[in-house]
Amino acid sequence: MSPLNFYARWRVPAGGVARLHEGVTPPPEKLLQAIWQQQRLQRDRLRTLDGRSVRVIHPGFHNRAAGPDFRSAVIQFEAEPPRSGDVEIDLVSGGWRTHGHAANPDFKNVILHVVWEAGRDVTGLPATLALPAVLDAPLRELDLWCGGEPAESLPENFRGRCAAPLRDLPPEKLSGLLTQAATVRLHGKASAFAARARQAGWEQALWEGLFRALGYKQNVWPMQRLAELRSELHAGKKADALTLQSRLLGIGGLLPTELTRAQSGPDDYLRRVWDFWWREREEFGGLILPRAAWKFNGLRPANHPQRRLALAAHWLAAGNLPARLERWCVAAESSAEALLEVLQVERDDFWSWHWTLRSARLAKPQPLLGVTRVTDLAVNVVLPWLWSRAHEGGSVELQREIERRYFSWPAAEDNAVLKLARQRLLSGAGRKLFATAAAQQGLQQIVRDFCDASNAACDACRFPDLVRTWAATPADSAAP
Ligand code: SF4
Repeated sequence: MSPLNFYARWRVPAGGVARLHEGVTPPPEKLLQAIWQQQRLQRDRLRTLDGRSVRVIHPGFHNRAAGPDFRSAVIQFEAEPPRSGDVEIDLVSGGWRTHGHAANPDFKNVILHVVWEAGRDVTGLPATLALPAVLDAPLRELDLWCGGEPAESLPENFRGRCAAPLRDLPPEKLSGLLTQAATVRLHGKASAFAARARQAGWEQALWEGLFRALGYKQNVWPMQRLAELRSELHAGKKADALTLQSRLLGIGGLLPTELTRAQSGPDDYLRRVWDFWWREREEFGGLILPRAAWKFNGLRPANHPQRRLALAAHWLAAGNLPARLERWCVAAESSAEALLEVLQVERDDFWSWHWTLRSARLAKPQPLLGVTRVTDLAVNVVLPWLWSRAHEGGSVELQREIERRYFSWPAAEDNAVLKLARQRLLSGAGRKLFATAAAQQGLQQIVRDFCDASNAACDACRFPDLVRTWAATPADSAAP
Protein backbone atom coordinates (compact mmCIF):
# COMPACT_ATOMS: atom_id res chain seq x y z
CA MET A 1 0.00 0.00 0.00
CA SER A 2 1.25 3.53 -0.73
CA PRO A 3 2.16 5.76 2.24
CA LEU A 4 -0.83 7.64 3.66
CA ASN A 5 -1.48 10.92 1.84
CA PHE A 6 -2.66 13.91 3.84
CA TYR A 7 -6.33 13.10 3.33
CA ALA A 8 -5.80 9.51 4.43
CA ARG A 9 -4.12 10.80 7.58
CA TRP A 10 -7.02 13.20 8.23
CA ARG A 11 -9.51 10.33 8.25
CA VAL A 12 -7.96 8.46 11.13
CA PRO A 13 -8.22 10.96 13.96
CA ALA A 14 -11.55 12.22 12.55
CA GLY A 15 -13.09 9.04 13.97
CA GLY A 16 -14.45 7.65 10.69
CA VAL A 17 -11.77 4.98 10.87
CA ALA A 18 -10.97 2.90 13.92
CA ARG A 19 -7.26 2.38 14.59
CA LEU A 20 -6.58 -1.30 14.89
CA HIS A 21 -3.47 -2.99 16.12
CA GLU A 22 -3.07 -6.23 14.27
CA GLY A 23 -3.36 -9.20 16.62
CA VAL A 24 -4.07 -7.03 19.66
CA THR A 25 -7.41 -5.27 19.22
CA PRO A 26 -10.40 -7.38 18.23
CA PRO A 27 -12.00 -5.76 15.18
CA PRO A 28 -15.33 -4.04 15.74
CA GLU A 29 -18.38 -5.98 14.54
CA LYS A 30 -19.18 -3.15 12.10
CA LEU A 31 -15.90 -3.87 10.29
CA LEU A 32 -16.65 -7.61 10.16
CA GLN A 33 -20.08 -6.83 8.71
CA ALA A 34 -18.52 -4.60 6.03
CA ILE A 35 -15.96 -7.30 5.19
CA TRP A 36 -18.76 -9.84 4.79
CA GLN A 37 -21.07 -7.51 2.85
CA GLN A 38 -18.33 -6.48 0.43
CA GLN A 39 -16.84 -9.99 0.43
CA ARG A 40 -13.30 -8.79 1.16
CA LEU A 41 -12.35 -12.47 1.40
CA GLN A 42 -10.36 -15.05 -0.48
CA ARG A 43 -13.61 -16.42 -1.73
CA ASP A 44 -12.29 -19.67 -3.17
CA ARG A 45 -10.67 -20.65 0.13
CA LEU A 46 -13.67 -20.49 2.46
CA ARG A 47 -14.23 -23.50 4.71
CA THR A 48 -16.38 -24.10 7.77
CA LEU A 49 -14.69 -25.15 11.00
CA ASP A 50 -15.66 -28.75 10.25
CA GLY A 51 -13.88 -28.59 6.89
CA ARG A 52 -16.73 -28.13 4.39
CA SER A 53 -16.16 -25.79 1.46
CA VAL A 54 -18.32 -22.65 1.36
CA ARG A 55 -19.26 -20.79 -1.81
CA VAL A 56 -20.98 -17.45 -1.24
CA ILE A 57 -23.36 -16.95 -4.15
CA HIS A 58 -24.85 -13.88 -2.45
CA PRO A 59 -23.82 -12.48 0.97
CA GLY A 60 -27.41 -11.44 1.77
CA PHE A 61 -28.85 -8.06 2.68
CA HIS A 62 -27.72 -6.15 5.72
CA ASN A 63 -30.47 -6.25 8.32
CA ARG A 64 -30.69 -3.23 10.59
CA ALA A 65 -33.73 -4.51 12.46
CA ALA A 66 -33.72 -7.20 15.16
CA GLY A 67 -32.46 -10.63 14.07
CA PRO A 68 -29.46 -11.91 12.13
CA ASP A 69 -27.03 -9.42 10.55
CA PHE A 70 -27.72 -10.53 6.97
CA ARG A 71 -30.95 -11.85 5.53
CA SER A 72 -31.55 -14.05 2.48
CA ALA A 73 -27.95 -14.98 1.66
CA VAL A 74 -27.38 -17.77 -0.86
CA ILE A 75 -24.66 -20.21 0.20
CA GLN A 76 -23.44 -23.49 -1.22
CA PHE A 77 -21.75 -26.03 1.06
CA GLU A 78 -19.58 -28.62 -0.72
CA ALA A 79 -21.50 -29.84 -3.78
CA GLU A 80 -24.93 -29.56 -2.15
CA PRO A 81 -27.60 -27.46 -3.87
CA PRO A 82 -27.28 -23.75 -2.89
CA ARG A 83 -29.34 -22.80 0.17
CA SER A 84 -31.01 -19.51 0.96
CA GLY A 85 -30.90 -18.37 4.60
CA ASP A 86 -29.49 -15.84 7.06
CA VAL A 87 -25.95 -15.08 8.19
CA GLU A 88 -25.00 -13.94 11.69
CA ILE A 89 -21.69 -12.21 12.40
CA ASP A 90 -20.16 -12.44 15.87
CA LEU A 91 -16.75 -11.73 17.32
CA VAL A 92 -16.55 -15.17 18.93
CA SER A 93 -18.33 -18.41 18.06
CA GLY A 94 -19.53 -18.72 21.68
CA GLY A 95 -21.59 -15.55 21.03
CA TRP A 96 -24.20 -17.83 19.49
CA ARG A 97 -25.05 -19.16 22.94
CA THR A 98 -24.20 -16.13 25.10
CA HIS A 99 -26.32 -13.79 22.94
CA GLY A 100 -29.23 -16.23 23.18
CA HIS A 101 -29.46 -16.81 19.40
CA ALA A 102 -29.97 -20.55 19.87
CA ALA A 103 -33.35 -20.02 21.56
CA ASN A 104 -34.43 -17.00 19.50
CA PRO A 105 -36.89 -17.85 16.67
CA ASP A 106 -35.59 -14.85 14.65
CA PHE A 107 -32.35 -16.82 14.18
CA LYS A 108 -33.84 -20.14 13.11
CA ASN A 109 -32.97 -19.54 9.44
CA VAL A 110 -29.29 -18.85 10.07
CA ILE A 111 -27.26 -21.10 7.79
CA LEU A 112 -23.84 -19.64 8.46
CA HIS A 113 -22.24 -18.15 11.57
CA VAL A 114 -19.31 -15.91 10.62
CA VAL A 115 -16.88 -15.25 13.46
CA TRP A 116 -13.55 -13.66 14.19
CA GLU A 117 -12.50 -16.09 16.87
CA ALA A 118 -13.56 -19.74 16.88
CA GLY A 119 -13.92 -21.46 20.25
CA ARG A 120 -13.09 -25.13 20.77
CA ASP A 121 -16.60 -26.36 21.39
CA VAL A 122 -18.73 -25.78 18.29
CA THR A 123 -21.15 -28.64 18.83
CA GLY A 124 -24.74 -27.61 18.30
CA LEU A 125 -23.74 -24.37 16.52
CA PRO A 126 -24.67 -23.58 12.91
CA ALA A 127 -22.00 -24.05 10.23
CA THR A 128 -19.22 -21.66 11.31
CA LEU A 129 -16.71 -19.77 9.22
CA ALA A 130 -13.73 -18.07 10.87
CA LEU A 131 -12.50 -14.96 9.06
CA PRO A 132 -8.86 -14.29 10.12
CA ALA A 133 -7.22 -16.74 7.70
CA VAL A 134 -9.33 -15.81 4.67
CA LEU A 135 -9.26 -11.99 4.57
CA ASP A 136 -8.07 -10.61 1.23
CA ALA A 137 -5.86 -7.96 2.89
CA PRO A 138 -4.34 -7.25 6.31
CA LEU A 139 -6.95 -6.24 8.87
CA ARG A 140 -5.50 -2.74 9.30
CA GLU A 141 -5.80 -2.08 5.57
CA LEU A 142 -9.39 -3.34 5.62
CA ASP A 143 -10.10 -1.06 8.54
CA LEU A 144 -8.92 1.98 6.55
CA TRP A 145 -11.00 0.86 3.56
CA CYS A 146 -14.08 0.34 5.73
CA GLY A 147 -14.24 4.06 6.52
CA GLY A 148 -15.47 4.61 2.95
CA GLU A 149 -17.42 1.41 2.33
CA PRO A 150 -20.17 1.01 4.86
CA ALA A 151 -21.85 -2.38 5.02
CA GLU A 152 -25.06 -0.81 3.73
CA SER A 153 -23.74 -0.25 0.21
CA LEU A 154 -24.14 -3.20 -2.11
CA PRO A 155 -21.07 -4.21 -4.13
CA GLU A 156 -21.47 -3.79 -7.89
CA ASN A 157 -21.31 -7.54 -8.58
CA PHE A 158 -24.15 -8.25 -6.15
CA ARG A 159 -26.57 -5.73 -7.68
CA GLY A 160 -29.73 -7.14 -9.20
CA ARG A 161 -29.62 -8.49 -12.75
CA CYS A 162 -32.15 -5.82 -13.66
CA ALA A 163 -29.77 -2.99 -12.63
CA ALA A 164 -28.14 -2.84 -16.09
CA PRO A 165 -31.32 -2.71 -18.22
CA LEU A 166 -32.94 -0.26 -15.79
CA ARG A 167 -29.86 1.97 -15.94
CA ASP A 168 -30.19 2.05 -19.75
CA LEU A 169 -33.81 3.21 -19.68
CA PRO A 170 -34.42 6.86 -20.56
CA PRO A 171 -35.69 8.75 -17.47
CA GLU A 172 -39.24 9.14 -18.83
CA LYS A 173 -39.49 5.38 -19.45
CA LEU A 174 -38.25 4.57 -15.97
CA SER A 175 -40.72 6.97 -14.43
CA GLY A 176 -43.47 5.49 -16.64
CA LEU A 177 -42.59 2.02 -15.37
CA LEU A 178 -42.79 3.17 -11.73
CA THR A 179 -46.13 4.85 -12.45
CA GLN A 180 -47.56 1.63 -13.90
CA ALA A 181 -46.34 -0.38 -10.92
CA ALA A 182 -47.77 2.22 -8.51
CA THR A 183 -51.14 2.03 -10.29
CA VAL A 184 -51.15 -1.75 -9.82
CA ARG A 185 -50.43 -1.20 -6.13
CA LEU A 186 -53.22 1.35 -5.69
CA HIS A 187 -55.74 -0.88 -7.44
CA GLY A 188 -54.58 -3.95 -5.51
CA LYS A 189 -55.10 -2.20 -2.17
CA ALA A 190 -58.45 -0.83 -3.37
CA SER A 191 -59.67 -4.28 -4.38
CA ALA A 192 -58.68 -5.67 -0.94
CA PHE A 193 -60.84 -2.93 0.65
CA ALA A 194 -63.74 -3.78 -1.68
CA ALA A 195 -63.47 -7.49 -0.80
CA ARG A 196 -63.48 -6.74 2.94
CA ALA A 197 -66.34 -4.25 2.52
CA ARG A 198 -68.47 -6.98 0.91
CA GLN A 199 -68.12 -9.03 4.11
CA ALA A 200 -68.05 -6.36 6.80
CA GLY A 201 -69.17 -3.04 5.25
CA TRP A 202 -67.18 -0.03 4.05
CA GLU A 203 -66.68 1.57 7.46
CA GLN A 204 -65.35 -1.61 9.03
CA ALA A 205 -62.99 -2.13 6.09
CA LEU A 206 -61.66 1.41 6.61
CA TRP A 207 -61.19 0.97 10.36
CA GLU A 208 -59.27 -2.25 9.86
CA GLY A 209 -57.02 -0.53 7.30
CA LEU A 210 -56.37 2.38 9.66
CA PHE A 211 -55.59 0.12 12.61
CA ARG A 212 -53.27 -2.06 10.52
CA ALA A 213 -51.40 1.01 9.30
CA LEU A 214 -50.98 2.18 12.91
CA GLY A 215 -49.41 -1.18 13.70
CA TYR A 216 -46.59 -0.70 11.16
CA LYS A 217 -44.82 -3.80 9.98
CA GLN A 218 -44.34 -5.34 13.41
CA ASN A 219 -47.83 -5.10 14.87
CA VAL A 220 -50.22 -5.40 11.94
CA TRP A 221 -52.04 -8.49 13.24
CA PRO A 222 -52.83 -7.51 16.83
CA MET A 223 -54.04 -4.15 15.48
CA GLN A 224 -56.22 -5.91 12.90
CA ARG A 225 -57.72 -8.04 15.67
CA LEU A 226 -58.53 -4.97 17.79
CA ALA A 227 -60.22 -3.33 14.79
CA GLU A 228 -62.32 -6.49 14.32
CA LEU A 229 -63.57 -5.99 17.89
CA ARG A 230 -64.79 -2.44 17.12
CA SER A 231 -68.46 -3.08 17.92
CA GLU A 232 -67.57 -4.82 21.23
CA LEU A 233 -65.41 -1.82 22.18
CA HIS A 234 -68.42 0.44 22.39
CA ALA A 235 -70.23 -2.20 24.52
CA GLY A 236 -73.65 -1.18 23.19
CA LYS A 237 -73.36 2.57 23.78
CA LYS A 238 -71.18 5.43 22.61
CA ALA A 239 -68.02 5.54 24.70
CA ASP A 240 -65.65 8.46 25.28
CA ALA A 241 -61.93 8.46 24.39
CA LEU A 242 -60.68 7.55 27.89
CA THR A 243 -63.06 4.57 28.13
CA LEU A 244 -62.01 3.39 24.68
CA GLN A 245 -58.34 3.81 25.53
CA SER A 246 -58.80 1.65 28.63
CA ARG A 247 -60.62 -1.05 26.60
CA LEU A 248 -58.14 -1.01 23.72
CA LEU A 249 -55.13 -1.15 26.05
CA GLY A 250 -56.82 -3.75 28.26
CA ILE A 251 -58.01 -6.03 25.46
CA GLY A 252 -54.67 -5.50 23.76
CA GLY A 253 -52.99 -6.98 26.85
CA LEU A 254 -50.94 -3.79 27.23
CA LEU A 255 -51.99 -2.88 30.78
CA PRO A 256 -50.32 -4.33 33.88
CA THR A 257 -52.25 -7.20 35.46
CA GLU A 258 -51.98 -5.55 38.89
CA LEU A 259 -51.34 -1.93 39.83
CA THR A 260 -49.93 -0.79 43.13
CA ARG A 261 -49.89 2.88 44.11
CA ALA A 262 -46.12 3.03 43.50
CA GLN A 263 -46.51 1.57 40.00
CA SER A 264 -49.16 4.03 38.88
CA GLY A 265 -46.53 6.74 38.39
CA PRO A 266 -46.64 10.49 38.84
CA ASP A 267 -49.59 11.12 36.47
CA ASP A 268 -52.81 9.50 37.53
CA TYR A 269 -53.66 8.47 33.95
CA LEU A 270 -52.58 4.86 34.37
CA ARG A 271 -54.57 4.64 37.60
CA ARG A 272 -57.74 5.99 35.92
CA VAL A 273 -57.38 3.69 32.90
CA TRP A 274 -56.63 0.73 35.10
CA ASP A 275 -59.65 1.45 37.37
CA PHE A 276 -61.92 1.39 34.30
CA TRP A 277 -60.35 -1.77 33.04
CA TRP A 278 -60.38 -3.53 36.41
CA ARG A 279 -64.18 -3.24 36.50
CA GLU A 280 -64.61 -4.48 32.95
CA ARG A 281 -61.93 -7.06 32.40
CA GLU A 282 -64.16 -10.01 33.34
CA GLU A 283 -66.61 -8.98 30.64
CA PHE A 284 -63.87 -8.82 27.96
CA GLY A 285 -61.89 -11.74 29.42
CA GLY A 286 -62.12 -14.06 26.41
CA LEU A 287 -60.94 -11.35 24.01
CA ILE A 288 -57.70 -10.28 25.69
CA LEU A 289 -54.62 -10.63 23.48
CA PRO A 290 -51.45 -12.16 24.91
CA ARG A 291 -48.66 -9.62 25.31
CA ALA A 292 -46.53 -11.92 23.13
CA ALA A 293 -48.73 -10.94 20.15
CA TRP A 294 -46.87 -7.58 20.08
CA LYS A 295 -43.37 -6.79 18.99
CA PHE A 296 -41.61 -3.90 20.65
CA ASN A 297 -38.04 -4.41 19.37
CA GLY A 298 -36.67 -1.61 17.27
CA LEU A 299 -39.82 0.55 17.61
CA ARG A 300 -39.47 4.31 17.85
CA PRO A 301 -41.18 5.58 21.01
CA ALA A 302 -43.64 7.60 18.89
CA ASN A 303 -44.78 4.37 17.21
CA HIS A 304 -45.38 2.38 20.38
CA PRO A 305 -48.71 0.51 20.12
CA GLN A 306 -49.93 2.06 23.39
CA ARG A 307 -49.63 5.51 21.87
CA ARG A 308 -51.16 4.43 18.55
CA LEU A 309 -54.14 2.86 20.33
CA ALA A 310 -54.62 6.09 22.28
CA LEU A 311 -54.94 7.91 18.94
CA ALA A 312 -57.31 5.27 17.54
CA ALA A 313 -59.50 5.64 20.64
CA HIS A 314 -59.96 9.36 19.86
CA TRP A 315 -60.96 8.54 16.25
CA LEU A 316 -63.45 5.92 17.46
CA ALA A 317 -64.89 8.21 20.12
CA ALA A 318 -65.48 11.02 17.60
CA GLY A 319 -67.41 8.53 15.47
CA ASN A 320 -67.40 10.65 12.30
CA LEU A 321 -64.02 9.89 10.74
CA PRO A 322 -65.29 8.04 7.61
CA ALA A 323 -67.65 10.93 6.79
CA ARG A 324 -64.89 13.50 7.33
CA LEU A 325 -62.57 11.59 5.00
CA GLU A 326 -65.28 11.55 2.35
CA ARG A 327 -65.68 15.30 2.71
CA TRP A 328 -61.91 15.76 2.36
CA CYS A 329 -62.07 13.71 -0.83
CA VAL A 330 -64.42 16.17 -2.55
CA ALA A 331 -62.96 19.33 -0.99
CA ALA A 332 -60.82 21.67 -3.07
CA GLU A 333 -58.03 21.59 -0.46
CA SER A 334 -56.40 18.21 -1.03
CA SER A 335 -52.97 18.63 0.60
CA ALA A 336 -51.34 16.37 3.17
CA GLU A 337 -51.83 19.19 5.70
CA ALA A 338 -55.58 19.19 5.01
CA LEU A 339 -55.73 15.43 5.57
CA LEU A 340 -53.64 15.85 8.73
CA GLU A 341 -56.29 18.26 10.00
CA VAL A 342 -58.94 15.58 9.52
CA LEU A 343 -56.90 12.90 11.29
CA GLN A 344 -55.19 14.95 13.98
CA VAL A 345 -56.35 14.88 17.58
CA GLU A 346 -56.40 18.30 19.21
CA ARG A 347 -54.86 17.32 22.50
CA ASP A 348 -54.76 14.44 24.95
CA ASP A 349 -53.95 15.33 28.55
CA PHE A 350 -51.68 12.32 28.94
CA TRP A 351 -50.62 11.18 25.46
CA SER A 352 -49.58 14.60 24.22
CA TRP A 353 -46.95 14.47 26.96
CA HIS A 354 -45.87 10.81 27.04
CA TRP A 355 -44.58 8.28 24.48
CA THR A 356 -45.75 5.25 26.48
CA LEU A 357 -47.69 4.48 29.67
CA ARG A 358 -44.48 4.32 31.66
CA SER A 359 -42.32 6.96 29.99
CA ALA A 360 -41.37 10.22 31.70
CA ARG A 361 -43.27 13.41 30.92
CA LEU A 362 -41.90 15.15 27.80
CA ALA A 363 -40.49 18.64 27.99
CA LYS A 364 -43.01 19.84 25.38
CA PRO A 365 -46.17 18.27 23.96
CA GLN A 366 -45.90 16.08 20.86
CA PRO A 367 -48.73 15.63 18.34
CA LEU A 368 -50.31 12.18 18.28
CA LEU A 369 -49.88 12.09 14.51
CA GLY A 370 -47.08 13.53 12.38
CA VAL A 371 -47.18 14.48 8.72
CA THR A 372 -45.00 11.49 7.66
CA ARG A 373 -47.48 9.05 9.19
CA VAL A 374 -50.28 10.88 7.37
CA THR A 375 -48.55 10.09 4.08
CA ASP A 376 -48.44 6.39 4.96
CA LEU A 377 -52.11 6.48 5.92
CA ALA A 378 -52.97 8.36 2.70
CA VAL A 379 -51.24 6.05 0.20
CA ASN A 380 -51.93 2.78 1.98
CA VAL A 381 -55.40 3.31 3.40
CA VAL A 382 -57.31 6.54 2.79
CA LEU A 383 -56.77 6.98 -0.97
CA PRO A 384 -57.18 3.25 -1.87
CA TRP A 385 -60.35 3.08 0.28
CA LEU A 386 -61.81 6.22 -1.33
CA TRP A 387 -60.81 5.02 -4.82
CA SER A 388 -62.50 1.70 -4.16
CA ARG A 389 -65.72 3.43 -3.04
CA ALA A 390 -65.64 5.70 -6.11
CA HIS A 391 -65.10 2.66 -8.33
CA GLU A 392 -67.99 0.77 -6.76
CA GLY A 393 -70.13 3.88 -7.16
CA GLY A 394 -69.13 4.17 -10.84
CA SER A 395 -67.75 7.70 -10.41
CA VAL A 396 -64.96 7.97 -12.97
CA GLU A 397 -64.45 11.65 -12.21
CA LEU A 398 -63.87 10.96 -8.52
CA GLN A 399 -61.53 8.08 -9.32
CA ARG A 400 -59.47 10.46 -11.48
CA GLU A 401 -59.32 13.05 -8.70
CA ILE A 402 -58.17 10.42 -6.19
CA GLU A 403 -55.53 9.20 -8.63
CA ARG A 404 -54.37 12.79 -9.14
CA ARG A 405 -53.90 13.11 -5.37
CA TYR A 406 -52.18 9.72 -5.16
CA PHE A 407 -49.68 10.48 -7.93
CA SER A 408 -48.82 13.95 -6.65
CA TRP A 409 -48.56 13.04 -2.97
CA PRO A 410 -45.12 14.01 -1.59
CA ALA A 411 -42.71 11.20 -0.79
CA ALA A 412 -43.02 9.22 2.43
CA GLU A 413 -40.12 8.78 4.82
CA ASP A 414 -37.35 6.65 3.35
CA ASN A 415 -37.19 3.09 4.66
CA ALA A 416 -34.92 0.04 4.56
CA VAL A 417 -36.87 -1.66 1.72
CA LEU A 418 -36.61 1.43 -0.49
CA LYS A 419 -32.94 2.02 0.32
CA LEU A 420 -32.04 -1.55 -0.58
CA ALA A 421 -34.21 -1.52 -3.70
CA ARG A 422 -32.60 1.71 -4.94
CA GLN A 423 -29.17 0.09 -4.57
CA ARG A 424 -30.10 -3.29 -5.91
CA LEU A 425 -32.32 -2.34 -8.83
CA LEU A 426 -31.32 1.23 -9.59
CA SER A 427 -27.59 1.23 -8.77
CA GLY A 428 -28.18 3.71 -5.95
CA ALA A 429 -30.16 6.17 -8.15
CA GLY A 430 -30.78 9.44 -6.35
CA ARG A 431 -33.80 10.11 -4.24
CA LYS A 432 -34.80 12.82 -6.77
CA LEU A 433 -36.51 10.12 -8.80
CA PHE A 434 -38.57 9.33 -5.71
CA ALA A 435 -39.97 12.76 -4.96
CA THR A 436 -43.48 11.31 -4.81
CA ALA A 437 -44.96 8.62 -2.62
CA ALA A 438 -46.33 6.93 -5.76
CA ALA A 439 -42.82 6.39 -7.21
CA GLN A 440 -41.84 4.79 -3.88
CA GLN A 441 -44.97 2.63 -4.02
CA GLY A 442 -44.11 1.58 -7.58
CA LEU A 443 -40.62 0.48 -6.54
CA GLN A 444 -42.03 -1.44 -3.57
CA GLN A 445 -44.47 -3.18 -5.89
CA ILE A 446 -41.63 -4.33 -8.17
CA VAL A 447 -39.77 -5.67 -5.12
CA ARG A 448 -42.89 -7.55 -4.03
CA ASP A 449 -43.69 -8.94 -7.48
CA PHE A 450 -40.21 -9.91 -8.61
CA CYS A 451 -37.57 -9.77 -5.84
CA ASP A 452 -39.79 -11.54 -3.31
CA ALA A 453 -40.51 -14.28 -5.85
CA SER A 454 -36.81 -14.85 -6.56
CA ASN A 455 -33.74 -14.90 -4.32
CA ALA A 456 -30.70 -12.75 -3.64
CA ALA A 457 -29.00 -14.14 -6.76
CA CYS A 458 -32.05 -13.14 -8.90
CA ASP A 459 -32.54 -16.77 -10.02
CA ALA A 460 -35.23 -17.17 -12.71
CA CYS A 461 -36.38 -13.55 -12.39
CA ARG A 462 -38.10 -12.40 -15.58
CA PHE A 463 -37.95 -8.71 -14.77
CA PRO A 464 -34.61 -7.91 -16.52
CA ASP A 465 -35.84 -9.48 -19.79
CA LEU A 466 -39.18 -7.72 -19.52
CA VAL A 467 -37.41 -4.38 -19.04
CA ARG A 468 -35.07 -5.03 -22.00
CA THR A 469 -37.93 -5.95 -24.29
CA TRP A 470 -39.95 -2.97 -23.12
CA ALA A 471 -36.98 -0.62 -23.61
CA ALA A 472 -36.84 -1.70 -27.26
CA THR A 473 -40.59 -1.13 -27.75
CA PRO A 474 -41.67 2.18 -29.35
CA ALA A 475 -43.36 4.51 -26.86
CA ASP A 476 -46.84 4.22 -28.40
CA SER A 477 -46.90 0.39 -28.59
CA ALA A 478 -48.39 -1.83 -25.91
CA ALA A 479 -45.88 -3.12 -23.32
CA PRO A 480 -44.72 -6.75 -23.73
S1 SF4 B 1 -34.91 -10.41 -8.26
FE1 SF4 B 1 -35.42 -9.54 -10.26
S2 SF4 B 1 -36.29 -7.53 -9.83
FE2 SF4 B 1 -35.23 -8.19 -7.97
S3 SF4 B 1 -33.15 -7.32 -8.19
FE3 SF4 B 1 -33.08 -9.38 -9.05
S4 SF4 B 1 -33.46 -9.10 -11.24
FE4 SF4 B 1 -34.12 -7.24 -10.20
